[in-house]
Amino acid sequence: MKNNNSNINIIFNEIEGFEFLYKPIQGLRENISIEKSTKETLYNFIKTNPDSIIISNDKSILEFIDILNDPKAVSQTYLKHLIILFHQIAAIKELQENLPYTVILLIPVIDDPKALIHLIITNVKLLISSIENRYLENRIELLELEIEKVKIENEKQLKEIENYLSDLELKSLMFEREKDKAEKELQLRLLYEKEITTLNETLQEYSLKLNELIKELKTFNYTISHDLKAPLRGIAGYFKELINDYFPDYSKIERASFCVNQIRRSIENMSKMIDDLLNYSKLEFDTPTKTTCNLENIINYIINERKHVIQKYNAAIEIDLQVKQIYSWERGLMQVFSNLIDNAIKYSKIRETPLIKISSKQIDKNILIIVADNGIGFDMIYAEKIFQLFKRATNNPEYEGTGAGLAIVSKIIEKIKGKIWAESEPDKGSKFFIQFPIE
Ligand code: ADP
Repeated sequence: MKNNNSNINIIFNEIEGFEFLYKPIQGLRENISIEKSTKETLYNFIKTNPDSIIISNDKSILEFIDILNDPKAVSQTYLKHLIILFHQIAAIKELQENLPYTVILLIPVIDDPKALIHLIITNVKLLISSIENRYLENRIELLELEIEKVKIENEKQLKEIENYLSDLELKSLMFEREKDKAEKELQLRLLYEKEITTLNETLQEYSLKLNELIKELKTFNYTISHDLKAPLRGIAGYFKELINDYFPDYSKIERASFCVNQIRRSIENMSKMIDDLLNYSKLEFDTPTKTTCNLENIINYIINERKHVIQKYNAAIEIDLQVKQIYSWERGLMQVFSNLIDNAIKYSKIRETPLIKISSKQIDKNILIIVADNGIGFDMIYAEKIFQLFKRATNNPEYEGTGAGLAIVSKIIEKIKGKIWAESEPDKGSKFFIQFPIE
């Protein structure tokens, strides 16, 4: 077998006159080289080429071993193949002890050169075969190792591919799921959008209908109060005629006169109630428009309008305004002060000198207005009820009224985000408090 990697050296150690062996030995293989060594140079030869075959005599090998520190190690590592010529039987045992890992072939030197050549060539062939066998075994071992490595590498790659595939599968599964989710969300969104559009359309329809209804309601309010008042006006007219034309001396018919008067008052009262109801319901649709307004001007205007009544009852009005300039709903406030001042005069007219005090002051960002009088007052059990529509704290016919004034005041104050409350005691006068934001 040709081996390119390592030559097979045949070393003739410390022996002379065997050159006739060179040719037949070299004829055995292409990679055979022949060297000559001394016991001093042998070590270097076998070290550089461990597969050397040494041809020597036991004496010179023993001497070579003598100069080495550890012959066993040399045998184990390098000196593997030894052919001993001219052997001296006594030294062989010592050699085998010293070189336990070395193949030693003993060849006696015989006179017949042909037979000697045959003997040596046969043994060299044997050793070369064993070297080549070893090469082969090594190669097979290497190949097996290589195969094992490739196998391991393949398995690793296979595992990686499997992992990659399962990863890919997982990812595609997740992707599918995400896609499903996104599709469902999209469908849901489209559905919501559709619903919102329908709702918006319905809402618009409703708001249109509502506006129409409000309009209708307003017209209805006007017509109903007008229509309701028409028969009242008719009844009132007939009563007048009845009293003037048919009961000219009705003072004599006392009972009839009383009844007729009561009916007239009821008619008047009902007419007022209808007016008040109309005003109250109109307020519901009113939106406060705020402007800078002066409280003093508003109050003076109202007092001026009532100067005859004030004079009639000899009423005194005291005004103490710490805050005058405000940003609020002027028309609304005008109504509030009209109603409160009217009440103050009405419910204190029995006093010799009715006294009405109107004051204002600032509390944080709010204005507090107090309208107080020294009139008949009321029981505090009515303190909240009097702000409801048509609810009164008195049924004395001396004090005419429908019970709508304070309800209207309360509604206006509610619209400017304020509050109203009252404090009173029968016969000790009343105080009405109003608080709302200055701006
Ligand atoms: P009206 O005065 O027409 O009855 P209001 O709504 O203005 O209706 O007042 C409701 C009730 O509150 C009155 O009936 C009266 O009993 C009571 N009230 C209002 N203001 C005063 C006041 N200044 N003094 C005493 N009682 C009052």
